[in-house]
Amino acid sequence: MSNVKEASVKRLVYKFRLYPTPTQEITLNNTLETCRRLYNSMLAHRIESQIGFYEQKRTLTAVRKENKFLKAIQSHVLQDVVLRLDKAFGAFFAGVSQYPHFKRRGRYNSFTFDYTGFRLSGNRVRLSMVGAVKIVVHRSLLGRLKRLTVIKDIDQWFAAILVVGEPEIEPSAEGKVGVDVGVSNVVALSDGTIVKNPRFLDSSIERIKTLQLRLARKKTGSRNREKMKFSLAKAWRKVRRQRDDFAHKLSHQLAEKNNIIAFENLRIQNIVKKHSIASAIMDASWGKLRLLTAYKAERRGGRVILVNPSGTSQKCSECGKTVQKDLSVRVHSCPDCGLVLDRDVNAARNVMQAGLERARVEAEPLLIQRRRISKFG
Ligand SMILES: [Zn+2]
Repeated sequence: MSNVKEASVKRLVYKFRLYPTPTQEITLNNTLETCRRLYNSMLAHRIESQIGFYEQKRTLTAVRKENKFLKAIQSHVLQDVVLRLDKAFGAFFAGVSQYPHFKRRGRYNSFTFDYTGFRLSGNRVRLSMVGAVKIVVHRSLLGRLKRLTVIKDIDQWFAAILVVGEPEIEPSAEGKVGVDVGVSNVVALSDGTIVKNPRFLDSSIERIKTLQLRLARKKTGSRNREKMKFSLAKAWRKVRRQRDDFAHKLSHQLAEKNNIIAFENLRIQNIVKKHSIASAIMDASWGKLRLLTAYKAERRGGRVILVNPSGTSQKCSECGKTVQKDLSVRVHSCPDCGLVLDRDVNAARNVMQAGLERARVEAEPLLIQRRRISKFG
């Protein structure tokens, strides 16, 4: 019943900052714009005439010969646009996303080269039809370089390189841990570790609030308003990066030391009904932490288990007795067994126990599982 997959070919994406010259930046922006227009016209084409992927790909080859904008871009990059559209339709028909929509100006922010379109050497990456662009490669790439996606993030450029065939990763150590993400912006682990509120949060939130207020005062369509929007987008980007960085570090530690990591299910949605900026960020933060931990654990042969959150903060993790306490009470103190523990650590221990219980049940033969289910209802 385990959902741990056999490790097949490793696929990893590395992201590096690009520093194009002003001329190269114009080329990159033009490429984005041409790809966006191609995407939209292919979408219109599909809606009108119900044609499919292969036919569109063939049409593209013919059209490219006649069109100077398309001719300025490597053909594989353009084919990838058609492929993206096809994937968007695929996702729609599979019921996982909405009907593909037209991309507005500025809403198309990446394009992809296959392995024929780029070559990495030192601190330059040669991009077909663009030139040698400065790149900061801060970690070594092991394996075969398959694809490179150029991404525009407001005023910065990145290369996301897909690498296949990464060497083996160390399996997780045998630890088991429960993680409690409380309302007070800390993460508590069942072993007693408390990871403090990421410090970036408070100052970043203040800045975003200030900028939003200022933005509201600017006239619609004014140049200042556009400037302010730009600053606001950058402030959000900063938070996003800090948040991801935090989640990356913590998830790495969790996945390295433990092969069973239990998180609460659902609780995140319960807390964040307030819709404040702070809770929106924390919500995304914990979501990201769980997602990354699951991904990293699986790569190492471990797993994340989500458990029912009800009662985890009230139950005594030592004797099981319910000890009622409201949110202001930060210490769990059990009148029955005498356990005195940080409230969140107590919750994390309950989460771990629930996770281990689930793992145990799932490891039982199916017959016993059925018996257990019929016994309880
Ligand atoms: Zn107790």
